[in-house]
Amino acid sequence: MANPKEQLLRWVDEDRNELIDFLSGFVRARCPNPPGDTKEAVNYLCQFLGAHQLPYRIISPHSDMPNIVGSFDCGSPGRHLVFNGHIDVFPVGNEPWTYGPWSGTLVNGRIYGRGVTDMKCGTAASVITFAYLHRIRDQLNGRLTLTAVSDEETSGPYGARYLMEHHPEVHGDCLLNGEPSTPYTIRFGEKGPLWVRFGIRTPGCHGAYTHLSESATKIASRLITDLETVTGIEANPPESVRKALIGSEATLDKALGQGASETVQKVTLNIGMVKGGLKVNMVPGHCEIEADIRLPVGVEKPQIMREVEKILSRYPQVTMEEINFSPPSWCDPNGEMVQHLKSNVKALRGFEPVAVISLGGTDARLWRYKNIPSYVYGPSPIRMGSFDEYVDVEEYLHVVRTHVLSAYDYMSRAR
Ligand SMILES: [Zn+2]
Repeated sequence: MANPKEQLLRWVDEDRNELIDFLSGFVRARCPNPPGDTKEAVNYLCQFLGAHQLPYRIISPHSDMPNIVGSFDCGSPGRHLVFNGHIDVFPVGNEPWTYGPWSGTLVNGRIYGRGVTDMKCGTAASVITFAYLHRIRDQLNGRLTLTAVSDEETSGPYGARYLMEHHPEVHGDCLLNGEPSTPYTIRFGEKGPLWVRFGIRTPGCHGAYTHLSESATKIASRLITDLETVTGIEANPPESVRKALIGSEATLDKALGQGASETVQKVTLNIGMVKGGLKVNMVPGHCEIEADIRLPVGVEKPQIMREVEKILSRYPQVTMEEINFSPPSWCDPNGEMVQHLKSNVKALRGFEPVAVISLGGTDARLWRYKNIPSYVYGPSPIRMGSFDEYVDVEEYLHVVRTHVLSAYDYMSRAR
């Protein structure tokens, strides 16, 4: 038989049209979250898996949000590689889409549609890689598992979180995920979001009688200004992370916008919501603020909370409630899978992607929390969450090739 890697690349080339149709059809299967009903898209993937005689089962802790788990053993014992991708996508509003958000239209070398970059391209790459490696499983070592999950976009409990808690057979020894990263970066970690709600209450009164009550909205505006001090908390990342980030600045800024390399190492504060007041001529007696604080690797939640509590000691009118928290996560920036990804991208495209920390969150963190090395390599996040979201077909096929070859490299090595 020919060199297996050449064979795998030949299959991608021969199946080019089928792979494009597969992604475009996946986009047509609507699955916005909220509400998060993914049944149509799960059926679509199951048809593909069935047609290629691939082993899989459905795990549905919620009837509208099934998860697909497929797994097979290879010819010889070895390590266990796991793929993870989510099926649900952001919802669609009244944005002026040029082609319908659920059309999967292929035009000028691009596939358009809601969720095509985040992350149907990456999930399709996982499913396709699973199929190709199954064909040559006798030549490989270890075990391969595919997890295609629901309930990611709202950080819900019925998708990857459920699998990680209740099905330890999906943990494995290494995880590969195709969330958007740009072809130029490999993500080995991510920042951690801490969402906090502040409630401000005062008696309130007629707008002409400002001597009778403090204004809840004015207190809110002072509090928002004071909260900014959390962004001054310095990160103290582990040495390997610090070293990995040195030299990644230019690539990160190019990929995610000028300033991204600074944002990645800093605590950031976003006041995502302010709600207060009833009418222009009333002194508001109530205001609510929701703050989205992002922790870089090397900052712990108690450091943030101590600072917030210090601020709140000056505001007796304010109560605080945590809405959501995921700690920052990271794994070895020089791990084996990183080396495979780098050398395959170098061979395919002539450049080496850089290992970076991601600004946004992904399910990959759940594997890192269990000390399983977990990496993200996917397409560019073009117009992600906006109208006219699209993926470049060549970039999609590049992600497929990179996943196929890197998974092959990992599984062709004996334990
Ligand atoms: Zn995503």
